[in-house]
Amino acid sequence: MIGSQLDETITKPIAVSTEGIHKSYRSGATVTPVLEGVDLVIRREQCVFLAGPSGSGKTTLLSILGCILSPDQGRVQILDQDISTLDEQARTAIRRNRIGFVFQRFHLIRGLTSLENVCVPLTLQGMPHHKAASRAADLLDAVGLSHRAHTHSHNLSSGECQRVALARALSADPDLVLADEPTASLDATNGQEVMKLLRRLTTEEGRTAIIVTHDQRIFPFADKVFHLENGRIAETAGSTSTALLESER
Ligand code: ADP
Ligand code: MG
Repeated sequence: MIGSQLDETITKPIAVSTEGIHKSYRSGATVTPVLEGVDLVIRREQCVFLAGPSGSGKTTLLSILGCILSPDQGRVQILDQDISTLDEQARTAIRRNRIGFVFQRFHLIRGLTSLENVCVPLTLQGMPHHKAASRAADLLDAVGLSHRAHTHSHNLSSGECQRVALARALSADPDLVLADEPTASLDATNGQEVMKLLRRLTTEEGRTAIIVTHDQRIFPFADKVFHLENGRIAETAGSTSTALLESER
């Protein structure tokens, strides 16, 4: 079973690839090199983890893949587009329409309810309010939070905030979902629940997921684990995820 799952994703088209990505941060005369030649290939419908010690550049790399940051050097191909050659406007369009980003600290808007938070990207895209509200309600239902739709985000638990953030990231129906340490502030049970939701995005909905984590408890959910250290990537592990999902059915 594990083998057949791996074979299936290995033959899928490439979703994301990078070649020779370099990125440094500059502050005055100080230059901090972070990424020093990152090469990656991630195929469609894979659920890939990006692990590595704190400060190794995981958030930096995810932000580059999410078209939030630009690399200093190197090529980034996302969903058949070479984004290194696109202008800011075209990159923004890819980020809005094809990528769902789940931020480490949720980034929910405090004064808004769960439903309103999930509506924000949809209304930004110009969807009429009643349609956005109806889609947001469906998305909250999918993450098991219908009963919290009208609760303000500051009254939600961390696990609930993470699920609202996930519903919001899915609002534009993205092909690619990027999540930065999605289980870091959750207990084991909530962490497993959020990972099951993320995992189903790839196995049941045909999306691609890239998840930054150093939470060893969730490694069994990955098809592949890439390890980032000293500015470079090494692939470290294969999948046990299908077996894990199968055993839960
Ligand atoms: P990780 O997510 O693996 O913890 P980050 O990508 O957040 O790593 O950061 C990698 C390195 O870059 C760290 O040394 C961090 O202090 C530094 N860094 C991150 N963001 C900035 C920034 N905006 N300006 C300067 N240095 C930064
Ligand atoms: Mg980080």
